[in-house]
Amino acid sequence: MTNTPPVCNYEGSDYQTSFWDKGGRQYEDRTEAIAIRRLLPPRGRFLLELGAGAGRNTPRYRGFERIVLLDYSRTQLEQAQQRLGQSDKYVYVAADIYRLPFVEGLFDGATMIRTLHHMADAPKALGQVKDVMRLGGTFILEFANKLNLKAIFRYWLGRQTWNPFLLEPVEFTKLNFDFHPRAIRKWLDEQGFTIERMLTLSHFRIGWLKSIAPTGVLVFFDSLFQWTGQWWQLTPSVFIKAIRGKPHSMHGEETFPRFASLTAFFKCPICGFAQLEDRKTYLECYGCGKKWEVRDGIYDFRAPM
Ligand SMILES: [Zn+2]
Repeated sequence: MTNTPPVCNYEGSDYQTSFWDKGGRQYEDRTEAIAIRRLLPPRGRFLLELGAGAGRNTPRYRGFERIVLLDYSRTQLEQAQQRLGQSDKYVYVAADIYRLPFVEGLFDGATMIRTLHHMADAPKALGQVKDVMRLGGTFILEFANKLNLKAIFRYWLGRQTWNPFLLEPVEFTKLNFDFHPRAIRKWLDEQGFTIERMLTLSHFRIGWLKSIAPTGVLVFFDSLFQWTGQWWQLTPSVFIKAIRGKPHSMHGEETFPRFASLTAFFKCPICGFAQLEDRKTYLECYGCGKKWEVRDGIYDFRAPM
């Protein structure tokens, strides 16, 4: 097995309840819904949601025929199942983003929101996403921006040691990274993505303002200011719409047969072999013989059985 960077694991976490449902994050949640609506194509076939968590954003991808919710934490996926139910539309996969268990060119859409934030090796993660997307597919990437106004002022006032103007990521707590917008653009370019649009979010992520101003008003003004992200990015959260491929190469190949069985989509994350036999309670790799558990509607590719 190849070595991959450490993973931030939300196993057993009540993140959805403590951070989103009770954490006063309605403003952030609603501005994200607006950004997704602006960036994601209204229709598509097969979307990969990287770091899906408890499926907070998943209903916002309703124009896609089928959605893979991928998370490293099985308990987060169980919460998503309770929210969304088990159906053909949703596929639940526990896996490591550094070793994605999908065949190349599978997805025509991918989203990665509040997830790159936990990646110690962001370029490697972005390379994995590129591999499983087809040419011309749309990738929505959100990243935490180290070059935000609060960080800049804190740095100038001597209240913060790290320099927000430097390109390297800052790990402000363990496995929590903020990135420089220019570094993100460079990495996407290196992976052959073309950036189509950038939106800035959370212009008003300021505690006292959120407590006195009505959320709807903040959401309204944030949604206007989001468009300025095309020219400058100085907010804590940035959304990018990127297309896989360079403009001249975008007339994409066709993807997989529409009614192919799910096992045709997977590859072994250890040996890379694309033929896995469906044994009901597990998938068996024809390449290396490893077995990957399938239990209660969740495909588990984190470690073999
Ligand atoms: Zn294998």
